[in-house]
Amino acid sequence: MRKIIVINSGSSSLKFKLFESPSKNVLASGLIERIGLDDSIITIKYGDKKKHREVQAIKDHTVAVDLLLQLLKKLDIVTDLNEISAVGHRVVAGGEYFKKSVPVDGNVIKKIEDIIELAPLHNPANLVGIKVFKKLLPNALSVVAFDTAFHQTLPEENFMYSTPYDWYKEYGVRRYGAHGISHRYVSLRAAELMGKPVEDLKLVTCHLGAGASITAVKNGKSFDTSMGFTPLTGIQMATRSGDVDVSLVAYMMKKLKVKSVSEILYMLNKESGFLGVSGVSLDMRDVEAAAAKNNKRAELAIKLFYNDIVKYIGQYYMEMKGIDGIVFTAGIGENSPETREAIMNELSFLGVTIDKEENTKRGTEGIVSGKDSSITVMRIPTDEEYMICCDVEALMNK
Ligand code: ADP
Repeated sequence: MRKIIVINSGSSSLKFKLFESPSKNVLASGLIERIGLDDSIITIKYGDKKKHREVQAIKDHTVAVDLLLQLLKKLDIVTDLNEISAVGHRVVAGGEYFKKSVPVDGNVIKKIEDIIELAPLHNPANLVGIKVFKKLLPNALSVVAFDTAFHQTLPEENFMYSTPYDWYKEYGVRRYGAHGISHRYVSLRAAELMGKPVEDLKLVTCHLGAGASITAVKNGKSFDTSMGFTPLTGIQMATRSGDVDVSLVAYMMKKLKVKSVSEILYMLNKESGFLGVSGVSLDMRDVEAAAAKNNKRAELAIKLFYNDIVKYIGQYYMEMKGIDGIVFTAGIGENSPETREAIMNELSFLGVTIDKEENTKRGTEGIVSGKDSSITVMRIPTDEEYMICCDVEALMNK
């Protein structure tokens, strides 16, 4: 039986999921955190609810991957490392180079290096993961899947900014979007749930996690998306502001007597959103709890979030000339019935109705709109690793 490992490598962490192919059963999944520190933590879930956890110093990603591969053998998850026929890597930014998942070669590595500036925190960590696995599993097929690739179908009127044209031509300034693997996965699942080919549907997929983005998926292709050149823009997020007027950067530099633009960008990325508005927490659960106790700023943060979502849905409704289905996914989308209900209420004037009982459920797939609803509204847990595994399999079978 072939096995495929899917890797999401961050600057100090490495997440993995090991699949059996072609069944795509998950054999193991886990996380190595705090890489580079003396108390790195490795957690592996496998078999029938078995869990392995150890704390030890893991100095870098090479040591982390080496340890992970040794543990897969030691815990009898694999007998021989050669059983792992392929590795799928999630990469944040693919620029305009990558429109789909591709096998890794020297040229691919060079292109990912060329666009490091588009994701300065993420792409270097992704590259380290790719190189370490290549070294330790030299016989396995290596594939890269990009968060931006799905959005490469945006028409130019949706990806271009009205900035000097040279900014685009010379420096690649345009909307790239993000969360593409998730938007693609849930749009395919939505079509299954609706019993129609995705090519016949106009969908809006709301990925509402700590990072959040909304995508218009028209006839199976990304048509417009809320994140822009970077993942800072679009709707309000855990700590990111979403859309703001860029002039406030210069204004706030003066007011706060801050010398560098990056300090203001840090505040827009890390100190804004739910955290900045509510002053309570970056986590929706805490903000919802505070709002339930009449905390006004928590109430305001939630209002801004709902309003942003409604505005984007409205925009995409006009752009696509209608919507057949809306998907809620990721942490908040899958687990906050309050959020789904609030948005459906806002859309009731379009004929959207709610299945109150189904909507109270969390974390499973389901249709949360009523049978008579003009738009089918769905709760679909995202599964980016599964989507990457499908791409890897397709390339293996080529
Ligand atoms: P990430 O973008 O880090 O992958 P997730 O998709 O895991 O994020 O989403 C994390 C967010 O989901 C948290 O900020 C939290 O606010 C939210 N969340 C998780 N569970 C619930 C819940 N039961 N109710 C409301 N929000 C939730």
